[in-house]
Amino acid sequence: MPFLDRHLGPRPDDVAAMLEAVGHRSLDDLAAAAVPASIAAREPLRLPGLPAALSEEQALARMRRIAARNRPAVQMIGQGYHETTTPAVLRRNILESPAWYTSYTPYQAEISQGRLEALLNFQNAIMDLTGLDIANASMLDEATCAAEAVLLMHRANRKVKEGAVAVDSRLLPQTLGIVFSRLEALGIEAILTDFSSGLPEGRLFGALLAQIGSEGELLDVGPTAAAAREAGALVAVATDPLALTLIPSPGSLGADVAVGSSQRFGVPLFYGGPHAAFIAVRKGLERSLPGRLVGVSTDEAGRPAYRLALQTREQHIRREKATSNICTAQALLAVVAGAYAVYHGPEGLRRIAEQIHGRAARLAAGLAGAGLEPLHGRFFDTVTVRVPGEADRVLARALEEGINLRRVDADTVGVSVGEPHTAEHIEAVLRAFGASAAQEGEAERFAIPAQLRRRDGYLGHPVFHAHRSETSMMRYLRELSDRDLALDRTMIPLGSCTMKLNAAAELEPISWPELAGIHPLAPADQARGWAELIGDLEAWLAAITGYAAVSLQPNAGSQGEYAGLLAIRDYHRDRGDDQRRIVLIPASAHGTNAASAVLAALRVVAVATAEDGSILMEDLAAKVERHRDELAAIMITYPSTHGVFEGDVAEVCRMVHDAGGQVYLDGANLNALVGLATPGGFGGDVSHLNLHKTFCIPHGGGGPGVGPVAVGEHLRPYLPGDPAAPGEGSGAVSQAMFGSAGVLPISWMYLAMMGAEGLAEASRTAILNANYLARRLDPYFPVLYAGAGGLVAHECILDLRPLTKASGITAEDVCKRLMDFGFHAPTLAFPVPGTLMVEPTESEDLAELDRFVEAMAAIHAEMTEVAEGRVEAGESVLRRAPHTAEAVSADAWDRPYPRSQAAYPVPGLRRSKYWPPVGRNDGTAGDRNLVCECPPPAAFDIEHRADEPAGSED
Ligand SMILES: *Cc1c(COP(=O)(O)O)cnc(C)c1O
Repeated sequence: MPFLDRHLGPRPDDVAAMLEAVGHRSLDDLAAAAVPASIAAREPLRLPGLPAALSEEQALARMRRIAARNRPAVQMIGQGYHETTTPAVLRRNILESPAWYTSYTPYQAEISQGRLEALLNFQNAIMDLTGLDIANASMLDEATCAAEAVLLMHRANRKVKEGAVAVDSRLLPQTLGIVFSRLEALGIEAILTDFSSGLPEGRLFGALLAQIGSEGELLDVGPTAAAAREAGALVAVATDPLALTLIPSPGSLGADVAVGSSQRFGVPLFYGGPHAAFIAVRKGLERSLPGRLVGVSTDEAGRPAYRLALQTREQHIRREKATSNICTAQALLAVVAGAYAVYHGPEGLRRIAEQIHGRAARLAAGLAGAGLEPLHGRFFDTVTVRVPGEADRVLARALEEGINLRRVDADTVGVSVGEPHTAEHIEAVLRAFGASAAQEGEAERFAIPAQLRRRDGYLGHPVFHAHRSETSMMRYLRELSDRDLALDRTMIPLGSCTMKLNAAAELEPISWPELAGIHPLAPADQARGWAELIGDLEAWLAAITGYAAVSLQPNAGSQGEYAGLLAIRDYHRDRGDDQRRIVLIPASAHGTNAASAVLAALRVVAVATAEDGSILMEDLAAKVERHRDELAAIMITYPSTHGVFEGDVAEVCRMVHDAGGQVYLDGANLNALVGLATPGGFGGDVSHLNLHKTFCIPHGGGGPGVGPVAVGEHLRPYLPGDPAAPGEGSGAVSQAMFGSAGVLPISWMYLAMMGAEGLAEASRTAILNANYLARRLDPYFPVLYAGAGGLVAHECILDLRPLTKASGITAEDVCKRLMDFGFHAPTLAFPVPGTLMVEPTESEDLAELDRFVEAMAAIHAEMTEVAEGRVEAGESVLRRAPHTAEAVSADAWDRPYPRSQAAYPVPGLRRSKYWPPVGRNDGTAGDRNLVCECPPPAAFDIEHRADEPAGSED
């Protein structure tokens, strides 16, 4: 069977029935009626080098050939990327388990308790290791995280409002590149500083320090931090979480903020990403934290229940008041890193760190024995030596042994030791330098000196001590994922998020060592396979969008927006139009749009929406006129966030172009367009796409993502450049040249197996599914907006407001009640408060769509009962939802509805029932009293061991 038939939900007979329900003769007919003729592609889509769709087997075979062009080596390059051993139990039960990777961002807390606990473990591990009070649930990468840390200090320093940040010249090159380019965009002064000769002159609002230099040197940041604080600056420290098992925590040294990457906690190199970065802060700074924060609240029965803390204050939701644009982060990778800490515990992590340091010390001793004294005598895992004029020769000899080292320059070589590296690897490296193994005892002088040794314990919580056997770990992971609702159990009809099939064949290649084992800084001739795969994908996405060039560097949609807006800004600047700094953004736009504009130092002017949800043309005309000379761009989403194909989009583009502005078309909703129309063809200058939506990268519970930016020919020179070599392009937006390269094979496989015609068929089917649902649900909950012919695009907004007004039952109550039916809620209150936005995608079959309609109809009946006064809203089955097994089986039952209605409102549930693990979560209580670490087991009232583990020794 062709893959297309596996990817699409509805069977041919179903399609016929559904077409009849929406009143169209064929899929082509429906698409032609829905997509405005003014934008429809004139030519069928063609994918370069892919004349026809490949079968699963053919695509995997071609991927094998691509992977075989990479040459994996033992990677001892370091620079923020280290070889690590992914415990098989984590790979199989997290990275390869759909229960984990297909889950959505945990906005609906009650059905997300498993992943919230896993993320809390990550937060807790980071808090303990960094010695700070609060850590968030992951950042996109270490370099952008360092930039966010500087921005946080800039906002939070109340004493010093003006001034500069002193940035440690010993930070990793990509960190320096990103920090300087982010600050430059905002006009914040950064001073590159060699802290060994003290602080720079002038007022400082912050200092960004390296705890480990790029040459591996261990730095005593305590005195520098103290001097910086004395001068009124806040202090951020970039560090390595594994080293922190041996060296003092940044918190103990006076840091206010710590950042770093958790990659070496079990996450493969992935050619640069995805990896979960972390940020931790001292108490008092938590409300300025970017990204997501997991907190602990209680449910309606008083049980501890996890949730996203300050959820409605997530920065990007604050639009132009936002201080960060992060939405999708690196949830799945944070889950892995947290589980790695759980599995190894403090002793295990320390053992791994000691072993790494011991090997590095023996390497240093061997080199010293051959007259190659390391540049720095204090290090954790990285030894750097001078070999005048010999660096290339040493690298070549190491490569003959199958090992990559770091070429610092023609005279200098760095060697980074990772968890899997053995004594034999060290001997091979020594041979490459013409050195031999050191005698017993000679390594001792490279021991970490007492004043740079950590004294306090970490990971004292029982969860870091309870799962040492694989059986226990496997069951713990299963227990957690069983608490959650992911795509492996139910449709997740989230509007604007496109939760479609993440096919097994698409995911298989990502863990192949020929792909996952390549270091992002490996020589180009070892990454030819990656170059081919990336080249294919860029060409295919350019064809799909109708643009000239694509960059895969942005590792989330928000980062694609930022890259695209920087391109627009620099384009205007180079044409002498630096004053063009205004971006028009419709009120209904995704929050990241405005937040990204602010980070690119552009000014946001909102455009009103008309009654029917489309852009209000008079308002647009007025604003274009008023800001004609300062107009940088308009940022519009197409199809709109209202789920409709707006007829006048081409006209909107023309008006903005006439005024000298550029058109940014947010392409996150491309699922209704692929193969049917191209943004570049109907007026866009630049778009980002979300490969983690339209192109099948699973959502991972809130990341990873890839947000490629696609541009017209005139913007090609402004695509993101190499982060480690600033100066080219418009500045990098991610720390690795190809961002989250590791998950690109998923989208490659999808496109290869679908082929051009299959992609168009998927778009038509997505339109059919959305219109079928709209038609079936409209009698219960009116569909708020529709385009030509009463048709919606890929999603529809259900208006609950009239019934809410009559009953007091809110859209949120409906979301919670859907959990009792085993459904994940649709998008709540975006873009219109009081509504639900439903996107079924092409992957859901008719039976699942009908199951959803059945649930919504039952809920409508329950709401009607309340509206008619037969049941009190506060006592209704809707307000008391979701229902736990414990509540339903309680000995006492005093609710006005029967237990069977609570648990089994429709007959199908008797065969298969999901039980929410907690009742309704009290959001406000959790925000008022912020708890972001794992609660003690006693809080759950479960029996716990009398011999409470005491953290690590010391
Ligand atoms: C999801 C989405 C974004 C943001 O993408 P992230 O990857 O979460 O940063 C932007 N615009 C629209 C329309 C979206 O749906």
